[in-house]
Amino acid sequence: MEQKVCLHCNKELIGRADKKFCDKQCRNDYNNTQNVTTNNYIRKVNRIIKKNRNILEELTPKRQIH
Ligand SMILES: [Zn+2]
Repeated sequence: MEQKVCLHCNKELIGRADKKFCDKQCRNDYNNTQNVTTNNYIRKVNRIIKKNRNILEELTPKRQIH
């Protein structure tokens, strides 16, 4: 029999074979962790985009608006 562990806390899982977490709390915590990772990634990308925009602004002649 294959031993499965919780995706969040790595504790051994007892019960149904398709279980991925020990309980609802572990599943919630795991999902929250995933969101934090995504947010960090978005922040990182935003920072790069902002930097690129600054570089482009420096290289592009100012538009005549008035
Ligand atoms: Zn767990």
